[in-house]
Amino acid sequence: MGATIRYDADSRLTISGIQCDCGLTHNLPTQDIYVGQGLLPRVPAYIRARGLGTHCVLVADQNTWPLAGERVEKALLDDGFTVVRCVIRRDGVMDPDERACGEVLLSIQPETEFLVAVGSGSITDTTRVNATRCKLPFVSVGTAPSMDGYTSVVAPLLLRGVKIHRTGYCPEIIVCDTDILSTAPLAMVQSGVGDVLGKYIAKADWMLGSIINGEVYCDVCGEIVTEAVQKLLANIGEIRARTEKGIRILIEALLLAGVTIMIVGHTRAVASVEHNIAHYWEMMQLLHGRHAPAHGASVGVATLLCWPLFTRFASEDLSRLDLDRIKARRLTRAQREAWMLTAFEDEAGHAIMRDNPGDFLTWEEQERRIRTAQARQEEIRRVIGMLPPYETILCAMRELGAPTTAAEMGVDAGLLNLSMHCAKDYRTRYTLFKLIDECGLEEAYLRAYPL
Ligand SMILES: [Zn+2]
Ligand SMILES: [Zn+2]
Repeated sequence: MGATIRYDADSRLTISGIQCDCGLTHNLPTQDIYVGQGLLPRVPAYIRARGLGTHCVLVADQNTWPLAGERVEKALLDDGFTVVRCVIRRDGVMDPDERACGEVLLSIQPETEFLVAVGSGSITDTTRVNATRCKLPFVSVGTAPSMDGYTSVVAPLLLRGVKIHRTGYCPEIIVCDTDILSTAPLAMVQSGVGDVLGKYIAKADWMLGSIINGEVYCDVCGEIVTEAVQKLLANIGEIRARTEKGIRILIEALLLAGVTIMIVGHTRAVASVEHNIAHYWEMMQLLHGRHAPAHGASVGVATLLCWPLFTRFASEDLSRLDLDRIKARRLTRAQREAWMLTAFEDEAGHAIMRDNPGDFLTWEEQERRIRTAQARQEEIRRVIGMLPPYETILCAMRELGAPTTAAEMGVDAGLLNLSMHCAKDYRTRYTLFKLIDECGLEEAYLRAYPL
């Protein structure tokens, strides 16, 4: 098992020698990913090496323009490129909404050959959806180590105030200049760390999916992410101080998590129930006209909320489950539908049920899962035993000064309680939360979150 991750003389990330017998097809990323110091002046050379053309639209916002956009534009102009500048200016935070997307779209000319996004989440996603619609390649110049979406093929956007997801291209070139990234505000760094810490839960849930449902678990992807997360945990002080070393470790963890998506073609190693909780908070806050909390910071808090359920489950004695009682207390299909509409409200509730048709289990299937969990309880314990202690995660977040409670994210008790109950229902992806529910233990485990 293994893979070799290196950087060539040009600071380009190379992955080779993937050896894994998980049975999945492993694709090597075809994108050029550069990480290092002083990379901005080299952006034109990176673009030429990839042959993207010479006419581009450069997208930035009022913060990323002076930080990096201006210098990228100058480097391109000096090298003979034609650049149409699209700097999105807002009073407060820039949202990836129809107005921002429209500004980029109207900057694109018939002769435009590629786009350059200078920013983090919102700028990259606004550019991503335009690149995809116009069938143009794009380059991402990262400005903050705040999320793992640089390598993503999905753009979360806002349409009329409602969160939507559109599939889109991955950037052909990703440039992460640590000189720039280390100037990011501490809140964005905290957010990036939160997003990375969530990978522990994602990995444990993926392994549970393989134990209970025979899902294919990829050791190499699991290892890539685990190594990156452990390195991050061991260097929280450096990250807090935003040293070149610390910021490099953080952005590498975020990029490598994204790279596993390219290798196996899905996000199993990257996101699970902790992301479901974070997405739910975001969705509901927007739906009720409030500002959405930062993605990674929410994931970090949600990771802390999930953790004790894992620890508790490891000491559960599943042989004592009363299957007749579990069967008698099952929700009917109609009850589950009503619950989904309560938890997610009408539109999203129907959409989630439509997208996850297998999520209402027959009793036969539920019983099979319970019996599998009973028979393989030792393996489940081992998976949970691989998690570091809860205190390690909590201390890391405290050391960073990151939020550790839902209240700090602007999430009130009502929303928090609902999110803990409906996180398992957000998608089919298998999670410990699903297993707890299938074993009839949800009431006992979520007593602290009354509905
Ligand atoms: Zn994330
Ligand atoms: Zn594999």
